[in-house]
Amino acid sequence: MHRVFNFSSGPSALPLPVLEKAQKELCNYQQTGISVMEMSHRSSAYQEIMDETTSLLKELMEIPYNYQILFLPGGASLQFSMVPLNLLRKSKKADYIHTGSWSKKAIAEAKKYGEIRIAASSDEQQFREVPVLNKMVFDDEADYVHITVNNTIEGTCFHQIPHTGNVPLVADMSSNILSTYCDVSAFGIIYAGAQKNLGTAGVTIVLVREDLIGNAASDCPTMLDYQTHSKHRSLYNTPPSFSIYITKLVLEWLKEMGGVSAIESLNREKARLLYTFLDESKLFTSNVARNSRSLMNIPFTTDSDDLNQKFIEEAKAAGLVTLGGHRSVGGMRASIYNAMPLEGVQELVAFMSNFEMNNR
Ligand SMILES: *Cc1c(COP(=O)(O)O)cnc(C)c1O
Repeated sequence: MHRVFNFSSGPSALPLPVLEKAQKELCNYQQTGISVMEMSHRSSAYQEIMDETTSLLKELMEIPYNYQILFLPGGASLQFSMVPLNLLRKSKKADYIHTGSWSKKAIAEAKKYGEIRIAASSDEQQFREVPVLNKMVFDDEADYVHITVNNTIEGTCFHQIPHTGNVPLVADMSSNILSTYCDVSAFGIIYAGAQKNLGTAGVTIVLVREDLIGNAASDCPTMLDYQTHSKHRSLYNTPPSFSIYITKLVLEWLKEMGGVSAIESLNREKARLLYTFLDESKLFTSNVARNSRSLMNIPFTTDSDDLNQKFIEEAKAAGLVTLGGHRSVGGMRASIYNAMPLEGVQELVAFMSNFEMNNR
């Protein structure tokens, strides 16, 4: 079997033990004689998968009792609509922090439903950093504040979470969930598409504080109301059942690895390796401000498009794939989520070092 190191931003690499377990159980799930894909979502075997996934997530993220854990379809992008539909309930105002392509999409959706203010933005810095939020004043009448904690495309990340007082903080954590310690109680809602750090495309994990459920307007589509999914424990309709099962396997793997604190040290070590190399390199550079650097998505570039292209092609031939930057940014990007082993980053750095020697 020939596996390469996959630096894709999403869908992204899965831990090999997860793929192997899924393969082993694919045709006959735990003596049921059928595959999870063929299983009724109302069966007890499937209910067990849902329950285990929920309790693993609760344990790994230390989720307080007053949060509902929902498994929803529609990707993180559907949350761009569900959040305003469920939370714009009193003033119909919300504060958004604008830090790149994903926050832009979230803002555009929210604007359809209420009065949206850009409370802070790094637009003028070409999103090379995240705005400082220490002494930020949020509108205390706002129904919520929205933040994109890790900016997958720009390679930036908030390393400090702002205090928003009584205003609930809603966070898109699609590309950094479970990568470092997170105090869930600081948030009203946390959402994340599974295909980066949690499994495979199809399911979105949404943690919602209970007091934020049940406030949608009566004309809110049933499927877009958090209450529908909370009441039916994510089984109002057929859920993305196989994706949830893969998430269960990923969480089991993470627990086996030592949980969030262990993966956080590993993630910090992987990022440190790559950033240290970039800072010393005379060929490759990172355009991201040091205090805003993401641990998960690391864009870098040379000063020549041709050389970038050559790098991407030669890296691919060497078994280091999907290193092309996002089409809006160009250059290269290494996404090194939880499932990327240390050896993958070590090989990348060794390859970059060699490439630099040969192309100066
Ligand atoms: C990938 C990503 C999204 C979009 O996720 P979909 O599941 O494709 O809708 C949204 N926000 C962030 C931060 C992302 O990285």
